[in-house]
Amino acid sequence: MKKIHKVAITGGTHGNELTGVYLINKFKKNPSLVKREHFETFFMHTNIGAMKQCTRYVDKDLNRTFTIAGLNDPSLGSYEDKLAKEINQKIGPKGSQNPNIDFIVDLHSTTSKMGLSLCISTNDKLTWQVAGYLKECMPEVNIFKWEGDTDDIAFVSSIPPSGFTIEVGSIPQGVLRADMFFETEKMIQHVLDFFELYNTDKLKKTYTNIEVYENSKMIDFPRGEDGYINAMVHPTLQENGYFKLTKGSPLFVTLDGEEIFFQNDETLYALFINEAAYYEKGVAMCLAKKKTIQI
Ligand SMILES: [Zn+2]
Repeated sequence: MKKIHKVAITGGTHGNELTGVYLINKFKKNPSLVKREHFETFFMHTNIGAMKQCTRYVDKDLNRTFTIAGLNDPSLGSYEDKLAKEINQKIGPKGSQNPNIDFIVDLHSTTSKMGLSLCISTNDKLTWQVAGYLKECMPEVNIFKWEGDTDDIAFVSSIPPSGFTIEVGSIPQGVLRADMFFETEKMIQHVLDFFELYNTDKLKKTYTNIEVYENSKMIDFPRGEDGYINAMVHPTLQENGYFKLTKGSPLFVTLDGEEIFFQNDETLYALFINEAAYYEKGVAMCLAKKKTIQI
């Protein structure tokens, strides 16, 4: 079994998601909080330009900038394109079998009521073992399995072969929420504990199956020909994280109060409901299948 030498914790990938920004500040002041005996913990702010402005990004979304194609394209010169290349040198390079970092945890928050969630976009075995351990320590953690449209995943968490994104919410953009701050810190501590046990052969079990919400599709708001939204997320969904949708469930309500219903025969779950950052991406919510997978 290959030992883990270096674990990275990254925050501020989106400059207005303050949980990660301030957890990294906390660790900078007191590195012993994330220190373990049998591996090195590395932590950094990823998008300082966006953090200074308290915006999601400066020119483009850093968490959509880590495709191999983009990293290898010298003609891409935006602030985040350049930043991605720098970060890739530090904690990658992406695609390498021997990257500088063995495992990455990228910290995010969402305006949607997702509670404590992991977003995992890899089939890497180690990543899923960490997820299994974390869910055992904190059963309230939900896992969103993101297959992606292509193999060239663009997330920060995709730089080394192993790692995931933590998403907690609901937290408004540019806001620190103490309860979620401490819960996120607890998740990080469990991840670090896992690797201490892993490196010293003290893990008590191997996880074989795990419940996930597997991405099915993303849906946009109903829009008029002018591009403006003409229906809002239905109030029934608003204060929910993983909302079960069956045929006939309310989905949207028009500005005039007319309800629009879910028409799918298959039961799906709505996630990232009414996430503020996704308005510009044309996404009102993600739909996922709930299932138990073999890991
Ligand atoms: Zn984010």
